[in-house]
Parts: sequence; structure tokens; C-alpha cells
Amino acid sequence: MSIPQCNWRLSRATAGVAAAVTLVSTFVPRLSSSEEAAAAVGARPIIAIEGVSVVDVLSGTLLDARTVLIVDGRIAATAAATAVDVPPVAVRIDGRGRYLIPGLVDMHVHLFNNFTHRAPNEWAFPLFVANGVTGVREMQSVPADMPSLTRWRAGVARGDLIAPHVLAAGVSVADDSVASTRRQVREAHAAGLDFVKIFSGVTELHWGAILEEARALQMPVCGHVPAAVTLLDAARAGQRSNEHLAQVYEACSAMEQQLVRGREARGRTETVKVREGQEREVLESFDQLICDRIATALATSGQVQVPTLVLPHFEARGPRTDFWDDARWAYLRVDEQARWERFRKEQPANDEALAAQRLEVSRRIVMTLHAAGVRILAGTDAPMPLVYPGFALHEELQLLADAGLSAADALRAATIWPAEFLGQSDSSGSVAVGKRADLVLLDENPLSDISNTQRIRAVVLDGRLFRRADLDALLRDARSTQ
Ligand SMILES: [Zn+2]
Repeated sequence: MSIPQCNWRLSRATAGVAAAVTLVSTFVPRLSSSEEAAAAVGARPIIAIEGVSVVDVLSGTLLDARTVLIVDGRIAATAAATAVDVPPVAVRIDGRGRYLIPGLVDMHVHLFNNFTHRAPNEWAFPLFVANGVTGVREMQSVPADMPSLTRWRAGVARGDLIAPHVLAAGVSVADDSVASTRRQVREAHAAGLDFVKIFSGVTELHWGAILEEARALQMPVCGHVPAAVTLLDAARAGQRSNEHLAQVYEACSAMEQQLVRGREARGRTETVKVREGQEREVLESFDQLICDRIATALATSGQVQVPTLVLPHFEARGPRTDFWDDARWAYLRVDEQARWERFRKEQPANDEALAAQRLEVSRRIVMTLHAAGVRILAGTDAPMPLVYPGFALHEELQLLADAGLSAADALRAATIWPAEFLGQSDSSGSVAVGKRADLVLLDENPLSDISNTQRIRAVVLDGRLFRRADLDALLRDARSTQ
């Protein structure tokens, strides 16, 4: 299996994490015998989760009867009870009969609403945390969003904001002129954004310029493979992640070259329209042998896929507009409710047969890519209509398992694989000493059934403990304040 080569530069957030790791590893040896050490750790309690089965996501096995000690927001020990000296001041959690996994990561979310001129989606923060989602990749920021990102990151680090870590934030650049598109890339980099996000409508000319500019700045390029570029061309040119299986459908048919050539030299919105018009033809011409060949080549390129299966899944369930039947509807901020309703009303009539076929082909593609060694990462596109932040990640994990991923692989898709892709596996992605204490305590074993990720007993976010009652209170507050 090829592991993506990550050229993610060290963002300010991760640089802080690296410094903290050093701090903890020198601090821990003094801890066991010294109560004054407990006083030195500040607002975060020392937490001991005792007798728990730790899910080792790397090996896909359980490490039974462990005591996991958390000090100052870091995992200070994970070992047999006799090997861990739990300080008297520690908050003790009975982990017997329970399962500890790393905090979950949603690799495709939208926290900003720049195009609709609305406030950021801070309403979604408690929903993520209550569902054990302790990290997200933000997919559409602009330089003006940096103050919000900095404030959120600092708030979580200080412990006065309950929100997932924004592990990376991407900027979408596209202007009429190539020169100003290049300038946008440089400005986003200077502002501190982490990667460039490509949209489907980007022309081949702009796409080449974005890649070149980003490469010079060592800024990763992610997003949708443009409608006028072939999948392997994009992967080989260094587009690090591809969202929603964009262009994979075409690549898994005999028609890709012909379709892409027909889309060249068209305007941005027109290219996307043409692609949409070709969808039925593309889905019907799915070819397993071609898909196998593409998958092997894609695995070599190292490009990861964020298929967001929840999107075709919800489309296949029909054109629902009766959102208020779902108890979670009340978690949405009022302007977001209005957006969902507007979005559904403006959507063209749903073709149910086409939607069902899209979901079926998406599943086959995911399994083919995964079998060939392409990294599949869990992402949801929350908050698209019906894609409830936090909740949807568990639905995505279930859909990945339904497509054929083992429970262990589905879990990896939301933990260690995102951490490796983002170049952050030194500080996150597994339950290991020195890593940041982002953890989820489950009542049942997720390796025997992935739906058990929903049986959440407690969440540890950056070393802060949220028991079931705290999580329920978070959700209750999310409801009552809107
Ligand atoms: Zn998106």
C-alpha cells in the first residue's frame, strides 16, 4: 500500500502541538511521585481511564485492561494497571467493559458561509464534539477567515471553547485571469491557510497555474479533480486529495478521454453543467476492469480519496423536504434551516433511478480503490442538507463498511489515515503516549461492528473530559439557544 507523501507544511497549530509533546515527555517521569506536579498542569484535570480495552487502530486489535493516563491534555501513559501510577488527584473513569478509540476526524466540512454572507457555522461545534468528532478539515476558507480560525484554535487550546480542532483549512481560488488566480494562492499562503482547494469548474489552464504556484510555496492542493482534467493527470500532477470521487466515475469507464476532451475550452460553469448532463451515460458505462487498472495507478500516485458517500446515500433516499420530522432539525441555526429548505426547493426534480445507480457505482468504486491500496478518508460535506455535523460521520463510517471496508479500515479512515495524510500522526490519530488526548470512550466494540462508534460514553477533547451527561447537555443547549 502506498502511503501518501505529505508535503503539508507545519501550520501554526501543529507547531504548537509539537512543542507540547516535548513538554509532556519531560514532565511525565516526575509525575508519579509528586502531587505538586498535579497542581502544575493548569485547568485540565489529570484523567485516568482504568481497565479499558484500547482499540489499536494501527494493528486493528484490542489492548485489553489498560489504564490510560491523561496529563495536561496529553496521553501520558497507556499500560497495564500495575505499570501506571495514578496520582490521587486524578479523575478516575471506569473503563471496564468499554472501548477507547482516538477522536474521530471529518475530512470534509464547511465552517464558513462566505458565499451566502452568513456567520460561520459555530452552531455545529457542539454537534461535532457530542459525536466524538474532535478534528475537522475545513474545505472553503478565505484569508479573511483567518481571525476566526485563530480564535477557535486558541480557544480549544486554552480550554474555553468546545469545538473540534481545525486540522487544516483550505482556500478555493479561481478568478477570471490566471495572474490574479496565482496572486490569490500567494495571498492565502501568506495569510496562513493550509492548502488550496480546487473546484470542478477550474479550467485546465488555471489548474496548471494553481499547482505551479502552490508547489513553489509548498502548499498542498486538494479538492475536486476538475471536469476538464483526467483523474490520473490530476493525481500525477500532485493533487493530494480528491473529493466526492470527482472524475473517478469517468475514469472507471471507457469514455474518460473523450469526455474530458469535449469539456475543454468551455467556461467554468458550462464545464460543470456538461459534466452533470453526461452523468447517466458515465454511470452506465462503468467498467470493472478499467476501474481495477485505474485504482492500481491511483494507488501508486498516492492521491487519497474522500468519497463522501453520505451525499449519494441521501440523494438515493429521495427528495426530502420534510426536514422537521428529524429531531436533529432543531440543532440547526435558523439561517441554516432556511438554506436547507431553499436548496431542496431549487434542486431539479430528483431522478430516483439515477440516484440509486450513483450510490451503487460509488460503492463499487470505493471498494475497488480500497482493494488496490488507495487511501479512503472519511468526510461528509457537512452541513449539506441532511448531512448533520458530527452525526453524519458515523453514517459515512457505516456506508464505508457497507461498501466493503472492514470495521478496522473504516475506523482508520477517520483516525490514523487522516493524521498521516495531514502529516500530524506524531500528535494524533491513535491512542499512544505523547499524543494529544482526543479520545472517545465507547460502550461496545467498534471492531466487531462499526455502528458501535455511536455508543459514546464519554469524549476527551484536548484533555478535557465530557461524560455522557455533559454531551447530552451540550446537545440540549445547542437546541435551546436557536
Ligand atoms: Zn464540500
